[in-house]
Formats: sequence, C-alpha cells, structure tokens
Amino acid sequence: MTILVKGAGVAGLTAAFALARRGHSVTLLDPKSPGMGASHYAGGMLAPWCEGETAPAAVVEAGEHAIDWWEEALPGLVERKGTLVVAPPRDQSELERFARRTSRHVWLDEAGIAELEPALAGRFRRGLFFRDEAHLDPRKALAGLVDALTSMDVKILTEADERAFSHIIDCTGRAAIQPGSQLRGVRGEMLYLRTSDVTLSRPVRLLHPRIPLYVVPRGEGRFMVGATMIESEHDGPISARSLMELLNAAYTLHPAFGEAEVIETGTGIRPAYADNIPRITGEGRHLAINGMYRHGFLMAPALAEELAARLQAVPQRRSATA
Ligand SMILES: Cc1cc2nc3c(=O)[nH]c(=O)nc-3n(C[C@H](O)[C@H](O)[C@H](O)COP(=O)(O)OP(=O)(O)OC[C@H]3O[C@@H](n4cnc5c(N)ncnc54)[C@H](O)[C@@H]3O)c2cc1C
Repeated sequence: MTILVKGAGVAGLTAAFALARRGHSVTLLDPKSPGMGASHYAGGMLAPWCEGETAPAAVVEAGEHAIDWWEEALPGLVERKGTLVVAPPRDQSELERFARRTSRHVWLDEAGIAELEPALAGRFRRGLFFRDEAHLDPRKALAGLVDALTSMDVKILTEADERAFSHIIDCTGRAAIQPGSQLRGVRGEMLYLRTSDVTLSRPVRLLHPRIPLYVVPRGEGRFMVGATMIESEHDGPISARSLMELLNAAYTLHPAFGEAEVIETGTGIRPAYADNIPRITGEGRHLAINGMYRHGFLMAPALAEELAARLQAVPQRRSATA
C-alpha cells in the first residue's frame, strides 16, 4: 500500500504519523510549509470536559484519549496541569451554568484559585478546576510530528502525482470547503501577548455570556489569547472589535496584561460539519479526514488511529512473487 496524505495540518500530520508507525509507505503533500494552516493558530488545549459544555458526547469520549496519545507520540510536550475556569463577579451565573453542563471538575474558592495560580490571588471569588485536562504548544507539536515523520522516512513534498499512489487521504482542511462538501468555515482570531508581570501555569478560561475567552501560557512571558468563533470563511486580519474583546478579556483576567506587548495576531478558519463532529469520509482509495472544528488537537489522534485501523483491515494485494 502506498499512501499519499494531502495536507500537513494537525489532521494530515497525525494521520501520516499513525500510518507510518504501522509500517505503511507514506508521502505527505502540502504546497505550503507544514503546519501553517488553521493548526498554526490553535490554543493547543486538550480539554475534553470543558469542551463538553457545548460539544457532543462523541467529542468528549474521543478527546479523553488525546492526552495520552500526544504524550506517547511526542514525549515531554504535554503539560498535564488542568484547566482553570473563572468568571467576573457579575457573571457568576455563567460559572454555575458551565458547571451544570460539564463533568470532572471541582469547585475552588478564592484561596484554592490563589494556590493554583498565585497571580490570580484575590481576583476571583470562585472557580472550576478540571484537573485531568492538559495543553500543549501546537507549533511545537506540529514541528515534532514533522521531525518524527522524517525519521520514519516519510517524504514531505510540495507536488506529487496522485496516480502513483494506491490510497489518497485528503486532509486539506478549509480547502475542502466546496459546494456539496457539507463543510463550512468558522473563523477564529487570536493574539499573542508578552509580559514578565504575569505568570500562569495552565490555560485559564474566562466565562462571559457573549464572549467566553481563554489565555494559554506559552512560557518565556508569552500568552496566547483566544479565540473568536465567527461563522465566516474570511481569513483576513483580526478585526478591531475582536482585538478589543480579546484584550479586554486578558485585562479582566489580570490588569498587568494591559501593559503587555502584542507580539502577534492571527486568523484561522476551522473547517466544520453541521454537527461540529469531525469524521472520515469517502471510500475505496479516496478517503478524507475533515471537520475538525475547534477540536483539531483534541480529535485528530482518534481519527488518525481510526483511519490507520481501517487501512490495516484492507486486504493487501498479493505481490507477483508471493
Ligand atoms: C484560533 C484557534 C484556536 C484553536 N484552538 C484549539 C484548541 O485549543 N484545541 C484544539 O483541539 N483545536 C483548536 N483549534 C482548532 C484547530 O486548530 C483546527 O481544528 C485544526 O487546526 C484543523 O486542522 P486541519 O489539519 O484540518 O487544517 P489545517 O491546519 O488548516 O491544515 C490543512 C492543510 O492542508 C493544506 N492544503 C490545502 N490545500 C491542499 C492541497 N490541494 N494539497 C495538499 N495540501 C493542501 C494547507 O496548506 C494546510 O497546511 C483552534 C483553531 C483556531 C483557529
């Protein structure tokens, strides 16, 4: 079996990794540098129980295994420090609602929050702690997969002739949003701040009735602030309104973010099906993984393994000498 994986985002890289690890001959095709699509802008939160607030049970179940998968695939990358969820005093009902709609959390009081994140001492009266969740740096994860694939002799090309391969796996993300594809795009804007005045150890979600946002520490004083959710395939620069909302959220979390440097802004288009559940589609030699929505890093491992298991079950053609 010779397999061409098209698209080197998190979907394509994890698929190529799962296939190459099983000994298949894999080639990865992307006209751009690997990992520069939507995956480049992700928060890297592996937060199935928080996502369960709005995500279907299938996403929570598949996402549960993602933390172990990433840790095993790229040792040392995953930070198992949980997720802290807080809300300003006027939005306490949001916290109650979030708690009702999710599982695997404990309530924290002011002292509990200060113990976890000393920088937030005295800022929030109550919070929720999702102890079993984790996060990773998506850019390191994508680069780590590229290195791992290279060491498994996977070729990474910018052009290839599809006829030379027995199987084609389309992981082209938003490029597959075409009439009849059932896919749509959900625009996500984010920014990076840099300051030495705030230290956080884990992703912190700030609830708000209109714009729930999060801050993910990246080390060396850098923080990713994300992310908007806009039903649009427009991938132009961040809007002034989104920039203000993201900065407001960071400032509400800690006023020292008001003095931080804005070192990057970005926009990614999340490809999604109507039910927001990613899936494998197609048949025969043409398969596709898509619809990662806001769960690319959470869901890609499960889909990659499902794909590899499917192809493993395909009867191999006898070679001429057998
Ligand atoms: C701001 C933001 C924050 C997010 N935060 C999180 C998070 O915390 N946790 C999480 O799990 N998910 C998160 N997501 C979602 C996640 O980033 C996406 O679900 C995921 O990146 C989609 O991956 P993909 O591989 O399908 O697409 P992409 O990463 O876009 O990759 C598609 C690739 O296909 C290539 N391509 C296009 N056309 C072709 C072609 N014809 N041939 C070959 N290659 C082609 C492109 O160049 C690109 O490299 C976030 C998304 C955004 C935008």
